[in-house]
Amino acid sequence: MTEAFKCKMCGSCCYGEGGITLDEDDIKRISEYLKIDETDLLKRFCHIRDGRVSVITGPDNVCIFYRKQKGCIVHPVKPKPCRRWPYYDALIKDRENWELAKDACPGLRQDCTHEDFVKEAMEWLSSNT
Ligand code: SF4
Ligand code: SF4
Repeated sequence: MTEAFKCKMCGSCCYGEGGITLDEDDIKRISEYLKIDETDLLKRFCHIRDGRVSVITGPDNVCIFYRKQKGCIVHPVKPKPCRRWPYYDALIKDRENWELAKDACPGLRQDCTHEDFVKEAMEWLSSNT
C-alpha cells in the first residue's frame, strides 16, 4: 500500500488562527513538558473560546508553540488535534475534503488513492485512540 501521509515538517498547518483546542490531558502533558504549572500555561499560551481552551497565535499569526528553526516546541506532547492530523473524519468520509487538504498539506501524497488514505487512517486511529 502506498504511504498516504508523511509530515514534511513545513509548518504550514501551524500558521493562522487554527483553533487548536486543548483538553485536560493536553493541558497536563504540555505543562509538565514545559515545566510550568497549568495556570501559567493557560495564562501565557491559551485563551478561552466558545467555552474551550485554545492555543493562541503570536504577533506573526503563527501558533505560539511554533519556532521557525525548531518547529513545534511541544512536538512530543502536542495537542490531540495536531497529533491526529490528517486522519480527521472530514477527510476520511469525504473524498473532496481530502482532495482539498492535499493542496494545503504537502505531507499528503498526491498519487495515492482515497481508499489507501482511509485504510491508513483506520490503522492509525486503531492504534492511537
Ligand atoms: S502542513 Fe502537512 S506536511 Fe506541513 S507540517 Fe503540517 S502536517 Fe506536516
Ligand atoms: S501545537 Fe505545535 S503542531 Fe500544533 S499548531 Fe502549534 S506548533 Fe503546530
